[in-house]
Amino acid sequence: MKITRVRAFLTAPEGIGLVIVRVETDVPGLYGLGCATFTWRCTLVAQAVEEYLDPLLRGRDPSHIEDLWQLMTVNSYWRNGPTLNNAISGVDIALWDLAGKTAGKPVYDLWGGKNRPAAMFYRHADGRDPQEVLDNVLRYQSEGALVVRCQQSGYGGQVQPKWDGDFPGLYYDPDRYARSIPKLFDYIRSQIGFDLHLLHDVHERLAPIDAMRLAKELEPYRLFFLEDPLAPEQVEWFRRLRQASATPIAMGEQHINPVEWRPLIVEQLIDFVRAHITSIGGATPARKMALLAENYGVRTAFQGPGDVSPVGHAANLHLDLSVHNYGVQEVVVWSEQARAIFPGTPELRDGHVWPNGQPGFGIDFVEAEAAKYPVTSVKPIEWTQTRWPDGTIWTP
Ligand code: MG
Repeated sequence: MKITRVRAFLTAPEGIGLVIVRVETDVPGLYGLGCATFTWRCTLVAQAVEEYLDPLLRGRDPSHIEDLWQLMTVNSYWRNGPTLNNAISGVDIALWDLAGKTAGKPVYDLWGGKNRPAAMFYRHADGRDPQEVLDNVLRYQSEGALVVRCQQSGYGGQVQPKWDGDFPGLYYDPDRYARSIPKLFDYIRSQIGFDLHLLHDVHERLAPIDAMRLAKELEPYRLFFLEDPLAPEQVEWFRRLRQASATPIAMGEQHINPVEWRPLIVEQLIDFVRAHITSIGGATPARKMALLAENYGVRTAFQGPGDVSPVGHAANLHLDLSVHNYGVQEVVVWSEQARAIFPGTPELRDGHVWPNGQPGFGIDFVEAEAAKYPVTSVKPIEWTQTRWPDGTIWTP
């Protein structure tokens, strides 16, 4: 079998630009699908696939997945950046899909088989105050969720900038935010007890010492994990955070290079690896990350927001099922229009994501449906322009 063409498709059924890669072969009707979604720079990824990876890969044997991953990674000479990693991921996930279809098996069977019938997921509860968050927690619990993420009023609520004009952005007060979160969990635990797993995402919005203080203050509420308490650039602070607090830590949706996650795993400074699998280069590096983590007692919690396509969610699910050290899976409830584009999108029920048992990742891509939702405008992103009250821009 030979690769005849590698194509990228852009579609936005829910207003978020998704990048899908299709690896076509000389076997009629046989192709693989991958997710290459770096939504904030989606047209660049599509261009990298069409203009650089397609000519590199045509004529090659698609079963050489490891070799092709290594080739794509070193071929640009400079490597480990999010744009090219996503382009590589699109091909890598598609090659695994193709391998499964060729074998007539789900991909998890190529990865050692299932460790569990389905993967426990978590939902996002938001609200302007503790009562509104609680109402949403109870709603998700009644729908079967076993784990719920709790966020309140977007990091303490927007504040007015001290000065108008020169530094536009979304202003928030990190101290107000940090003070609000222990009160939120105190209220929710007082109302529902401890049987439901809860977690919270700091989204790197605090100075390191304030993140440490928050992790300590949250100990009584037994979080499933505290997510991204520190920016990826503040890796040394994880050693101090670990000494100071027993709140479980999840980290890594912004990781792009193995040197960023390796010390966190090997020194056992975190409890959950949380890669956005397309940003690290696909399923091949995600599996290696999971296997390394297993050796050190660290579990997986791969990122699963709306800017991972249903193809990427399907790949997440096959990873979740096949690794021993699975933790939890973030999920999206996809709309009818998204499901029409992606038949076979994984089903959510009873607090878990379920596989459909079909060969490959069990998901398809309907080009004609995708074309109904073009990526029409690429505007500067607002939510990554977050600022502290004095105007200082901060990691989003
Ligand atoms: Mg997050």
